[in-house]
Amino acid sequence: MSKTIYFVSLGCPKNRVDSEVMLGVARGAGYSIVEEPEGAETIVVNTCGFIGEAKKESIDTIFEMAELKKLGGCKRLVVSGCLSQRYPAELSAQMDEVDHFLGSSDMLRLKEVLDGKAERMLVGNPADWVMRASDPRVLSQGHASAYLKLAEGCNRTCAFCTIPQFRGAQRSRPAADILREAERLAGQGVVELNLISQDTVSYGRDLPSTSRTSLADLVAAVADVPGIRWVRVFYLYPETLDDALVEVLASHPRVVRYVDMPLQHASDAMLRRMKRGHGKGRQERVVERLRAKIPDLTFRTAFIVGHPGETDQDFEELLQFVKWAEFEHVGVFRYSDEETARSHSQDGKVTERVTAARARKLMALQRKLARQANKRLLGQEIDVLVEGPSEEHELVMQGRHAGQAPEVDGHVFLSGAEVQPGEMRRVTITQASDYDLVGEVQLSPEGLSAAPRRRKVALKVVS
Ligand code: SF4
Repeated sequence: MSKTIYFVSLGCPKNRVDSEVMLGVARGAGYSIVEEPEGAETIVVNTCGFIGEAKKESIDTIFEMAELKKLGGCKRLVVSGCLSQRYPAELSAQMDEVDHFLGSSDMLRLKEVLDGKAERMLVGNPADWVMRASDPRVLSQGHASAYLKLAEGCNRTCAFCTIPQFRGAQRSRPAADILREAERLAGQGVVELNLISQDTVSYGRDLPSTSRTSLADLVAAVADVPGIRWVRVFYLYPETLDDALVEVLASHPRVVRYVDMPLQHASDAMLRRMKRGHGKGRQERVVERLRAKIPDLTFRTAFIVGHPGETDQDFEELLQFVKWAEFEHVGVFRYSDEETARSHSQDGKVTERVTAARARKLMALQRKLARQANKRLLGQEIDVLVEGPSEEHELVMQGRHAGQAPEVDGHVFLSGAEVQPGEMRRVTITQASDYDLVGEVQLSPEGLSAAPRRRKVALKVVS
């Protein structure tokens, strides 16, 4: 049977990077990465185990792939990632169809599996894994954009969150290693780097003081890598950000004016219950400070509704806060009652019906605010990174402006001139809807050079 492999990557961008490392391992072992699971010799499902819906999606996908295996094409079904890290015994007992389980820190051990030398259970200790620039990696985003991991794990103790239990404590990558990877990615034609971790603001705090680099210096150094045009920072915890970081976000020419800061709630009582370590006042001050220092800022945040103890009044406070802050992008998550989370034992559980109604109300409010933010761009001429044909209309090309992050925000649909994936073009915005924009490409690209084209690698991503 030929050496072919099919990957499904579920969950967050951190999981996507782990999947890309496994793609690198597979390619190094002589495997071809195929676009359809039917007929693949090996199928890998890189799972997410964060909350109820993600777990269900992971399990459904495993069973879907197991059905294909029964039809005879697939020799090996591998399950990796957070779900197998979190529930190794349960999955092993209930999923006979799965040949190998890898945890969330065992990406490189896929090699043993592909060599036919591995035991069934390869679920190690998350603390053992920190990505290195020397690890193999095959990029799966075909359009000059890549994620760059700064750290693994998290040291916070948010009540609703189980991530530290299966991703371990924070382990920052040394700055020199991150820069080596940034240089290599730039050499492969990447022009946009999205910096990720669980808690980016804590980057480096776990490294020895003699070899520690501040987040501000690291972000600036990544943005100074030749060839990089946009650097975007994700997952800033709402701490009092240091002046140097705010300065880099406000003034470095290649750091986009975009902040992703998950705030989770906005009432003092809920922030206390969520054990976030601060109140609403600090969040207001952080938002005010960033808006004042960075006038053209795009602010993305996320909130959880239906956390134990959330009253109508708490939720009303959240709505008022969102109206006040006028965030450009908001992710709304319904509380998931995870049995090992500290919030599980809290009283005041909110019913699913009330939680769903609150989520709908918050999303409706945000849709209005997002439309207003998009309308402010009408008539403006802005840079757009061309991604490729749009998923909805094959004949229409789409891209993103600096205020639109990959996978989570909207797009700019392009008209007026031929464009190539990876190009950065000047675009005049002509139409605005709730989440997306339409723009007319300027005929002269004003000296903005196209990035080398790279073929998109088959990685089914479900986020
Ligand atoms: S900071 Fe994020 S990853 Fe860390 S415990 Fe809190 S919610 Fe979880």
